[in-house]
Amino acid sequence: MTCNCTQYQPIELDRISIKRRIKESPAIRKSLVVLSENTELRLSLFQCPSCEQFWQSGHEWNFGDEEYLFQVPPISIEEWLEESYKQPAAMMIYSAMMSDYYEKLGDDQGDSSCRVDGCSDRVVRFCVFCKQHQVESLQGQGKLPQFPIGRIFPPYDGS
Ligand SMILES: [Zn+2]
Ligand SMILES: [Zn+2]
Repeated sequence: MTCNCTQYQPIELDRISIKRRIKESPAIRKSLVVLSENTELRLSLFQCPSCEQFWQSGHEWNFGDEEYLFQVPPISIEEWLEESYKQPAAMMIYSAMMSDYYEKLGDDQGDSSCRVDGCSDRVVRFCVFCKQHQVESLQGQGKLPQFPIGRIFPPYDGS
């Protein structure tokens, strides 16, 4: 039996590719076997019985929480349960929100140095922190998204 795994390219980190993959996913899922499930994160690890390709599911509230599947490198179930792969839509939303925010912050610096102990960087204009600590502070307050959890994998690691 042949499969269609190689027909699918890695999801590009844009809305169109993610939406397209959400549509394709029910058909992809049909030919896969579930290897494991992480019920806390509501993620599944799959394998194709013909070519042995591994797949993982993802979902993102920003896309109606609908499930989509993407290819991932081979991994043992134990390792996967410990830490699953990063979800492409989460990576995309994170980088989009962060670059919007960085743009809003701008490059103007104030005269004083960052309020964080041991940090000698100058503050962002009208802030009490430097750029990095301003972002970290807002992440801590839940006002900016956290860096997406999970293992990075090709091609998203830049390879
Ligand atoms: Zn396959
Ligand atoms: Zn700082």
